[in-house]
Amino acid sequence: MLRTNTIQLLHIVEEASSNYHYHLSVTGADGKPALCGYRQTMHTHMRLSTWNGKPSRLPAGYCSACTEAAANMGVVVPEAEEDTRTFRK
Ligand SMILES: [Zn+2]
Repeated sequence: MLRTNTIQLLHIVEEASSNYHYHLSVTGADGKPALCGYRQTMHTHMRLSTWNGKPSRLPAGYCSACTEAAANMGVVVPEAEEDTRTFRK
């Protein structure tokens, strides 16, 4: 189990190929894989506390695999208030 300050190391990253589909990353660096393994990511400046938040304007999707991976790391991220998964597979 990692220490609780791991939360400071997680970043919200966005899919490079489509807008408003978000993943979690340890590094937050462009092109580095997200926790779920998704690799085509871009930086965002979103705070981790906004994870699973309702979108202000356009539909947003938050990766459930990244959420689960964060939980497995001992990092508590906000849970969705409703099903906001809008990923196109
Ligand atoms: Zn993901």
